[in-house]
Amino acid sequence: AFGIAEVRVARTTARTGRRLIAVASGKGGVGKSTVSANLAVSLARGGRRTGVVDADIAGPSQPTLFGVAEARPDARDNRMVPVATAAGVSITSVGMLVPPGKAVAWRGPMLGNALGQLLDAHWGDTDTLILDLPPGTGDVQLTMIQKHRPAGAVIVSTPQDLALIDARRAIDLFAQAEVPIIGLVENMAGYACPHCGGVSDPFGAGGAEEAAAGLGIPFLGRIPLSIAIRKASDAGTPPAAGNGPDGAAFDAVAARVED
Ligand code: ADP
Repeated sequence: AFGIAEVRVARTTARTGRRLIAVASGKGGVGKSTVSANLAVSLARGGRRTGVVDADIAGPSQPTLFGVAEARPDARDNRMVPVATAAGVSITSVGMLVPPGKAVAWRGPMLGNALGQLLDAHWGDTDTLILDLPPGTGDVQLTMIQKHRPAGAVIVSTPQDLALIDARRAIDLFAQAEVPIIGLVENMAGYACPHCGGVSDPFGAGGAEEAAAGLGIPFLGRIPLSIAIRKASDAGTPPAAGNGPDGAAFDAVAARVED
């Protein structure tokens, strides 16, 4: 264990007075962006003034998840104005800095500056910012963490062994940077068959909770693998904004993040 569960999670970062929460995963495709978006929506529903900073250079998907893929942010005094969305969460995205369909090809300092602009946007009275980091544990992630010092980190993993091994690396990255781990979210757990009602576990069961216990970090909850989540995400209407069972799962995670 890393012994980081004992580190108290600071409520806000000193510089902005805002609570910056990084969401990370060891590898791509585990639902980090989906969890980031819906965690933000649940926090907003709970009364937080919440924004999402989409720094996922590999695949900036927050504009799509929030149904504002076509929006271009305004600038004021040389700073970006976050795009407001119907779910009550404002967003900035690295995808808004490049023409649609173009890949981000910046390196090093330029990339750092671009990502910094997303955080330094006109966030106004936003009190909580969810930072959707690129998957993995490379230089971009480390630089962002060291420079912007999130109050804490949420790690997303599937129940599968491989994803969990990578999640451990992400946890280690934050431990090195002395950023407390808020906890681990298990995504794509337990699939309820819409035909027979039986629950199956395509990626295994309970792996993330066990791993969290083994690492001495809090387990924040389980998000089911659900067709409704995939559909709502593709449609740009975050499932946490609805009143279905999937929304309740995200609300439970948000409540633990607020603890
Ligand atoms: P990442 O940010 O880790 O790369 P995404 O959030 O983009 O992952 O999710 C990858 C794909 O899996 C997307 O198509 C998304 O809609 C889908 N997905 C994520 N979580 C779930 C879930 N709990 N149930 C169903 N589909 C999901």
